[in-house]
Amino acid sequence: MANKKQDTTTTFRAPIVTVMGHVDHGKTSILDALRHANVAAKEYGGITQHIGAYQITHNGFPITFIDTPGHAAFTAMRSRGGKAADIVILVVAADDGVMPQTREAIAHAKASGVPIIVAINKIDLPGANIEKAKQMLAQESVLVESWGGDVVSVEVSAKTGENLTGLLDAIQITAELLELKADPTGELEAIIIEAKKERQRGVVVSAIVKNGMLSVRQDVSASGQNAKIRSLMDDKGQMLQKAGPATPVEILGFKDTPNVGDLIMEKDSELAELAIAEDRIEIIGKDTKKVVGLILKADTEGTLEAIKSSLAELVTSAATSDFSLKFVYTGTGDLTASDVLLAHNTNSVIVGFNVKIPNDAQSESETKKVIIRTYRTIYELIDEVKDMLEGVAFDDEARVKGRAKVLKIFKLPSGDLVSGSQITIGEFKEGSRVAIYNKDPEDLTELDIPLYRGKIKKIKVQKDDVAKVKKGMECGIFFQPQFTEIQPGYFIEAM
Ligand code: GDP
Repeated sequence: MANKKQDTTTTFRAPIVTVMGHVDHGKTSILDALRHANVAAKEYGGITQHIGAYQITHNGFPITFIDTPGHAAFTAMRSRGGKAADIVILVVAADDGVMPQTREAIAHAKASGVPIIVAINKIDLPGANIEKAKQMLAQESVLVESWGGDVVSVEVSAKTGENLTGLLDAIQITAELLELKADPTGELEAIIIEAKKERQRGVVVSAIVKNGMLSVRQDVSASGQNAKIRSLMDDKGQMLQKAGPATPVEILGFKDTPNVGDLIMEKDSELAELAIAEDRIEIIGKDTKKVVGLILKADTEGTLEAIKSSLAELVTSAATSDFSLKFVYTGTGDLTASDVLLAHNTNSVIVGFNVKIPNDAQSESETKKVIIRTYRTIYELIDEVKDMLEGVAFDDEARVKGRAKVLKIFKLPSGDLVSGSQITIGEFKEGSRVAIYNKDPEDLTELDIPLYRGKIKKIKVQKDDVAKVKKGMECGIFFQPQFTEIQPGYFIEAM
């Protein structure tokens, strides 16, 4: 087969690294510690600027870290077949192990095929249990080297600084194997990792150049708008004329905030035209039988993008190919009565993430019989939309197969929480989906949101594993993911 003509201007590009993991496991602390331990940054003489990403050098090897919380840009980019980052650092606290957001991060990294480096953090703590953390990772099919797998894992303490150089070494080795390349003279591609509007400076966009060169006064386009670059500033506060591959920059010059995860490209370039065309596609999933309208509201632009792309991916996956999803409206901020009206007029469902339902919107939804669902974790949101796409309506009442009352909570040596419960209605089966409330389901109103949604991982009667339990029986129920806040007196509904 004839090879494509080799590009002679292609050069090494520094890896772009993103840090993911459960809340409080130390992502921010690791990012701060790596940045501050970096001598090169200090010698530079500039003042550290938080622009969403920063670059350090480790033994002369440059590494760019995405500094934004969560994984918004990462997931937004993924839905377009692109990658925001080349390497994911999965932070797992040694005293806590794998938690729900650890699993989310693993799923994101695996789906995009980006290599994971495990950083087991907080090894300075007396409660640190490194082996247990590795074992829990193995249960999620992340097999670290000492467990016979090929995932590199390093044990660190962001607090004491122990072995942070080991983490940087691991990044360097992984990056060298990836042979990352870019062409500074090629087509401009810069990924947007943050975008906000400020009163003084107007629209401020943070981006990392992935290919080509971004220059002051250049005409660019992103998220369907054109802009002229007014200024470029790097993470050390230096004003730049040009920024090449893997350089994080803060850009002024946009009139409207572009979307996180979108690419900045040269104006009128072929790539830009393609991206605009893609943005206009509203309905995702082709040749489908049923279109489900969705009004999606989230607390921030970043989470909104992350949810949109995860949902887009859900629809294109085979399991839900009978349905497609239409984003009737997406936006940030609390729900409003006009969102409810729009949902009513378009026969859509409202899905909110970390947003409030003010009284007027709530009463409007009651009179118009519009379904509103709000969530605190992306996992739950995606899971329930998935159900909806699979033909199960947002009608819990109709699909409740059993109810139980939590009597007592047990914590096993393995860390598993078991809910000693009594089945009051119907039956509970292994694998069933559940919703947990802090009040009797009989007293629930339309707008009561479960405290937890998940699945039944295991049911035990006495010491035996059973597949099913019926009304009147007492049993121990294991949930997946774990619901750590569960308490006696809570109610479980199985669907
Ligand atoms: P994030 O939510 O993942 O970004 O976590 P943070 O970086 O905010 O850390 C959460 C808490 O854990 C903070 O109180 C940190 O001081 C603490 N922490 C982070 N890393 C370590 C560590 O290596 N050892 C100890 N003892 N505490 C840590």
